[in-house]
Formats: sequence, C-alpha cells, structure tokens
Amino acid sequence: MITSNIDPQPADFADVRATNLSVVLRFVRDHAPCSRADIAAGTGLNKATVSSLVADLIERRLVREIGLTENRVGRPAIMLMLDGAPYAAIGVEINVGYVTAVAVGLGGERLLSWRRAFEPGQHVGEGIAAVAAIIRRVANRMTKQNRQVLGLTVAVPGLIDAQGAVRLAPNLGWRDLDLGGDLAKALRDPGFPIQVDNDANLAALAEQRFGEHAGATDLVYLTGEIGVGAGVIMDGALRRGALGFSGEIGHIQLDASGPACRCGRVGCLEAMAGIGALLDTVSGAEVEEIERLAQAGDAATIARIESVGSNLGKGVAIVANLLNPSVVVLGGFYVPLAPWLLPALEAEVRARAIAPEVRVVASSLGLDAAALGGAARVLDSVDSGRLPSVT
Ligand SMILES: [Zn+2]
Repeated sequence: MITSNIDPQPADFADVRATNLSVVLRFVRDHAPCSRADIAAGTGLNKATVSSLVADLIERRLVREIGLTENRVGRPAIMLMLDGAPYAAIGVEINVGYVTAVAVGLGGERLLSWRRAFEPGQHVGEGIAAVAAIIRRVANRMTKQNRQVLGLTVAVPGLIDAQGAVRLAPNLGWRDLDLGGDLAKALRDPGFPIQVDNDANLAALAEQRFGEHAGATDLVYLTGEIGVGAGVIMDGALRRGALGFSGEIGHIQLDASGPACRCGRVGCLEAMAGIGALLDTVSGAEVEEIERLAQAGDAATIARIESVGSNLGKGVAIVANLLNPSVVVLGGFYVPLAPWLLPALEAEVRARAIAPEVRVVASSLGLDAAALGGAARVLDSVDSGRLPSVT
C-alpha cells in the first residue's frame, strides 16, 4: 500500500475516526467480499466499532452490502464490497504533443480515457486554457453520470515542488507556474481539489496500483517521451527527495560530446535515449511508422532503436546499481518499441550492473500510465482518510 507523503494526516484525537474509516475502507478494497467479522479480525478493531464505521462508509456510499455468504459455518454473514458508484477520480497528463485524461471509479474501474493533441502555445495562458477546457469536459461527463469528482491530479514532465508548483518543465517551456491554482481559476473553482505532480512519479503510482507488477515494493518507472524521468518506489513508498525533484535521470550525462539537450547541457540521457532521439516531431503516427518499419525488418530503423536501447541501458544500469529495484518499467513510446529496444538494453545492463536480476519490462498501462497515476493519487487520498462527506 502506498502512502502519500504529500498529504500527511495529523494523528490528533479528532482524526482517529477518519483514520479508522480509512483502515476499514482499505481492508474492504483489499479483501472484498468480506464480512464485518472479517474486518474486525483483520484490523484488530472491535466489532461494535467496525459496525459503526461500516455504517458510516455505507452512508457515504463507499461500501455496500452484497447479501449473505453461502459456504460458511455458523451464522451466515452479510458480505461487503466497495461501492463508489457516485464517485470518480480524474487524472490528466500534459506532455509534448498531447494531453491524456482518464477517469476511474473508486475500485479503479476505467470510466473514461481520452487523448487530445496539445501544444503548450506561445503564451502559458493558452496552454492552461486548453487543458482547462479538456478538464471541464471530463468533469461534465462525470456529472452527467451522476458521479461526484473526488479530485484531479495533473501530471507534468518536470520539476514539481512539494506545494505542487511547476518549477521547471523545459520540454513545455514552463517555469515557476502555480498550475493547480491557475487551472482552478480557469475552471472557476470546480469544487474538487486539484493537485499537480511529476509525470514519472504518478506513472510509478499507477504501476504500483494497477500495473502488471502491482504491489511491487521496489519499482522504478521510466517515462518514454521527449523527456525521460524516473518515478522511484522504494520500500513501498514513492521517494521524492528533499525538494520533490528526485528521479531526474534524463539529465545524467552519458557523453560529454553528445547531442544538445533541451535543458541546455549536452549528452544528457534523454537527448540520447529519449524518444526524441528517434523522431523529429513526437506523434503517435510517427512512432507507429517506426514500429512498422522495424516489423518489416528495416535494418536502419532497427539499428536506430537498438542504439537508443543501449543508451537507455546505461541509464538503467545506474538505476540498478543505485537503487536495486526488483523491476524497471519502461513507459510511454518505449512500449511499442520494446521488442527491439529490450535486447540491446538488457545487454548493456548485464555488462554494467553489479546488482543482479533487475527485470526490465514494458508497461502494460501504455500511454495512460501518468494520467492513471493522477487518478491513483486521488484514490490514495481517499484511502488515507480524505473521505467525501455525506451528501
Ligand atoms: Zn538535459
């Protein structure tokens, strides 16, 4: 279970009930269908307390009863599972060339998944207006489904500080931007909280909650966009660093005489192993074309992908030596190219990593990972006690 270190829950007396509600909610999420007695046995809370907490969760429509057990000795018990029908969590990823929006229900079920072309524009305001328009449409769609939006997290490729301000997003040309505040203003106070986080961090959260390696306690996610960022989960929690800027693997220098990077330096990993090393402009169509050429056995294309794979392997070897993850997940545009990328990458990791047995895999969440992670962060907030009030 991931705990968000952005939303610390003060442990004073008034929060004991909220904490217990979240304990029960998480138990139901992990063990449903389960009975009140199962919850009491599993959490150590006494039965009367569990009954009261479950009644509260049912009233908030976070949990519902689904009838009696059949195969149980003794008195049949009423079983419980997540409800969440009146709720939605939204995640939006802003990146070079596109915006992705997803909405999920309380149990993580996908309600909506959109991708729209996006250019940040000449002025910051244009980009914000474009993103706000997409958010408004997603929120309206949820309202039409009679769902209350629990929250929204926006994923941005760049340095996001602990307060959620965009300090630097070089590939979008953004600097010192209160993106959450600006979006709330553009949406005229939408009535749900807006958080902003780094795209790689959120994608790592998505892998941890929804991916093929869900539950992995030591996982590193690498974004495969124009930029390359790392989301680091160690010992079960996202590791953000002192200012929240951990994981900027894209600007490790691989070659002092390498190509120029958008950050102003040369030979950075993302200039040599980012998807921009293969493409002139980033578009799904162009990646599809490269995939098609590789599938057709085009030697020059395969050699270019393998070169990116080797460069990426140097970065993965550093990650493996430094953090000893059990799995490194490649995301974004690396996913469709993985069949040609991985062999070259793995050879480089084998040659350089002292720590053995790091698995490198392509994300099963594809291009939605960061947006899904945005929704996951909203669900994490609910799981840690920020429950919707009774309506
Ligand atoms: Zn750089």
